[in-house]
Amino acid sequence: MKRLTRGLRFCEALLFPRRCPFCDEVLGFSGPCAACTPKRMAQTRGAGQPIPPQAHTFDALDAIYAPYFYEDDVRAAVLRLKFEDRPDLADPLGAQQAAFLRAAGCAETIDAVCFVPSTRRRRKERGYDVPLLLARAIGGEIGKPILRALEKTRETEQQKGLSGQERRENLKGSIGVRAGVSVQGKRLLLVDDVITTGATMSACAEALRAAGAAACIGTGIAVVRQ
Ligand SMILES: [Zn+2]
Repeated sequence: MKRLTRGLRFCEALLFPRRCPFCDEVLGFSGPCAACTPKRMAQTRGAGQPIPPQAHTFDALDAIYAPYFYEDDVRAAVLRLKFEDRPDLADPLGAQQAAFLRAAGCAETIDAVCFVPSTRRRRKERGYDVPLLLARAIGGEIGKPILRALEKTRETEQQKGLSGQERRENLKGSIGVRAGVSVQGKRLLLVDDVITTGATMSACAEALRAAGAAACIGTGIAVVRQ
């Protein structure tokens, strides 16, 4: 069985070669992209360092971790994942998030992996759910189950172009814990793609805390430098 799985993996690698999430070039069978690794250093945040709370909204979150700043080729990678029909990029980018959480020493402390809920309209437009795909990639890497705990309780306006305060107003009461899901006493990881002001993540964490979650740690691929 193991040999068969390995064989299938090999065929898959031939048919769908690994691509660098940052420059989109085809890569070999292992290792990072030699062209991007040195270039990306400027957008790479200190290994395992949480985002300092003063610059972003942090209510109800214990800490937020993101391996990159949302700039240059990292931004390009996120935009490809979100808007150019590239769900395959969730795996390599989620793996970076997982590695960062491991470096921070918090991957083992988590009971389950939750994700920021997308609006139905957004999922329909895109055909896939980016935070869910990232959560699956991270959960697979750190060996923790996915918990589909949150839902949008109403559609909200696009957050783009809104200030921190406006974002919080826009989100008020728009996210809740799904009926029949228990988060009581659980230490949860909350996954999103980009952390702009932290307002979305905070709204999610508030809902999880209100439902009895013991801890809530956030993670994004990248954070907007404030
Ligand atoms: Zn590259």
